[in-house]
Amino acid sequence: MGAAAGGQNACIFCRIIDRSAASTIVYEDAENLAFLDLFPVTRGHLLIVPKLHVDRLVDLPESAYEGLFKAIATVCRRVEGLSTHYNVSMNQGELAGQIVFHLHVHVIPRYGEGTPQWSRPRERLREEDAAQLSALLRAS
Ligand code: AMP
Ligand code: ZN
Repeated sequence: MGAAAGGQNACIFCRIIDRSAASTIVYEDAENLAFLDLFPVTRGHLLIVPKLHVDRLVDLPESAYEGLFKAIATVCRRVEGLSTHYNVSMNQGELAGQIVFHLHVHVIPRYGEGTPQWSRPRERLREEDAAQLSALLRAS
C-alpha cells in the first residue's frame, strides 16, 4: 500500500503511510491511518487518511467509505478527551485550501479560540438562488 503499491513516491502522506517519512501516528487499521498535523491549527489537530492514494473524496472507491467513516468516528471519540468541540473537515481543491493531494480528513479540536472558517459576514440565501442550486445539486 502507499508509495510502493501506488507509485506515489512524491506524496508526503503515502510516505508517512509506508513509514519513509516521520509522523506522529495516533490510529491505524488495515485501510486508514491518523497522525498529528505538523502545523496544527490547534492542539491535537490531526489528519485521517485512507492508505489508498486518491486525490479527493470523489476518487475514493465506495468500498472504502464505511471503513473510513468508522476510523473518523473512532478518532473523534479519542479527541473528545481533549475537547468535545471540534471541526471535522475536508478541503477539496486548491481554491478550498487543499495543499496535499492525498485525501485527508482534518479533526481540529476547539477550545474557545473562535472558528475562522465561519468568520465572514453571511447573507441570507436568496430564493432564486435556492431554486437554481436545488436544480443543480439534486440532479444525479
Ligand atoms: P490541506 O490544506 O487540507 O491539504 O491540509 C494539509 C495538511 O497537511 C496541513 O494542515 C499541513 O499542516 C499538513 N501537513 C503537511 N505535511 C505534513 C507532514 N509531513 N506531517 C503532518 N502533517 C503535514
Ligand atoms: Zn498519497
